Amino acid sequence: MSRKIAIIGAGQSGLQTGIGLLKKGYQVTMLSNRTQDDIRSGRVTSSQCMFDMALNTERELGLNFWENDCPPVEGIGLTVPNPERPGEKLIDWAAPIDHKAQSVDQRLKMPVWMDEFVRLGGELVFQDAGIDELEALAASHDLVLLAAGKGEIVRQFERDAERSVFDKPQRALALTYVHGMEPKKTFSRVAFNLIPGVGEYFCFPALTLSGPCEIMVFEGIPGGPMDCWGDVETPQQHLARSLEILNTYCPWEAERCKNIQLTDDNGVLAGRFPPTVRKPVLTLPSGRKVLGMADALVVNDPITGQGSNNGAKCSKIYLDSIIDRADQAFDENWMKDTFEKYWAYAEQVVSWTNSILLPPEEHTLNLLGAAQQSPDLAKTIANGFNNPVNLMPWWTNADACNQVVAEFFKKEA
Ligand SMILES: Cc1cc2nc3c(=O)[nH]c(=O)nc-3n(C[C@H](O)[C@H](O)[C@H](O)COP(=O)(O)OP(=O)(O)OC[C@H]3O[C@@H](n4cnc5c(N)ncnc54)[C@H](O)[C@@H]3O)c2cc1C
Repeated sequence: MSRKIAIIGAGQSGLQTGIGLLKKGYQVTMLSNRTQDDIRSGRVTSSQCMFDMALNTERELGLNFWENDCPPVEGIGLTVPNPERPGEKLIDWAAPIDHKAQSVDQRLKMPVWMDEFVRLGGELVFQDAGIDELEALAASHDLVLLAAGKGEIVRQFERDAERSVFDKPQRALALTYVHGMEPKKTFSRVAFNLIPGVGEYFCFPALTLSGPCEIMVFEGIPGGPMDCWGDVETPQQHLARSLEILNTYCPWEAERCKNIQLTDDNGVLAGRFPPTVRKPVLTLPSGRKVLGMADALVVNDPITGQGSNNGAKCSKIYLDSIIDRADQAFDENWMKDTFEKYWAYAEQVVSWTNSILLPPEEHTLNLLGAAQQSPDLAKTIANGFNNPVNLMPWWTNADACNQVVAEFFKKEA
């Protein structure tokens, strides 16, 4: 008899893990609180830009259905406007990345992955899981994974106060999906604008339900001028507010937007959440255990675009750990060990991301400025989005960071 695994949540990590398990001969039951049609006809949820390492975990499972249709993201650019001279740039560079990144709208991707899950023999149940459902699944299955993203149910996991740096949202977030933006010249990129005291704006090409598009992401410092979505009532007002921000803070980006229109009325989102780390194991009233994964346990602010990447990498680690366990029990120690394998990676992503949410330190501004003079340094930073481990721990340590910058200049002299 093959082992039975239950997964709550048909998102990036749940579906990738479920499909991986089916391909290895496991029996998998998945609970989703949304049908394929709910997801397709619903609101955008993410900007979901994924880099090569994470994309490879999808490719390994044959899940890269949009490889040729999704426009590539070929680099990263950084612009810091001059706070003293509006309309002028203080820092401005762009560097290609070694391997393309891609963003496929989750509204397009997840319904197709759900169909694939069913085609491979998975049991897909439409149900909003609560404690009763978890109890029933824990009694009938060898392992229950909770991959419910930002769903209410994940609050059942205890917040890890030591590993959670913040207890409040650090940015007011907004997404605007558009057609008609003028592409960047030479190579496509995440065009990242860091506006001191205001927040960040970035945009990049993606694939949505109506074809190639660009996703605009706004990260407003709470209480600041980019925390400005509360009075927006209609999609058209949301688009107008997006353009007002660009006209005020990054006119070079507004230039690209003369002919934009929304991809659809659901191509907009505004919200906020506190970056949080939770303890990995939930003990049900019966004493049975549930293991969390991806955003359910480690939810990052999207400023560094890592959540889906983390979800894919977490999925790969969990999949390998389940397979290695063969027919031994998935007990609490195994659950904790499995999460710690993921945390060994995710911890660095969390530290890097959290450092970028705080007002930039002098060494960070020096680093970002130095990248304008050193194309190799710019490339190292750009490729760091693929594997942030390569940027740590030096990114957050003034001496180490200054030394890295000095070494790049020595090499290029
Ligand atoms: C504004 C914004 C921009 C972002 N941009 C990026 C980016 O550029 N790059 C990047 O890598 N990441 C980005 N992310 C993060 C990324 O989208 C998430 O980290 C990723 O989707 C998490 O995957 P997951 O599998 O943990 O959860 P999800 O993909 O959120 O899936 C969870 C699923 O569980 C379902 N569910 C919830 N509760 C229940 C329940 N009780 N019962 C049954 N089903 C349930 C939900 O409906 C959902 O389908 C962004 C996020 C936001 C908010």
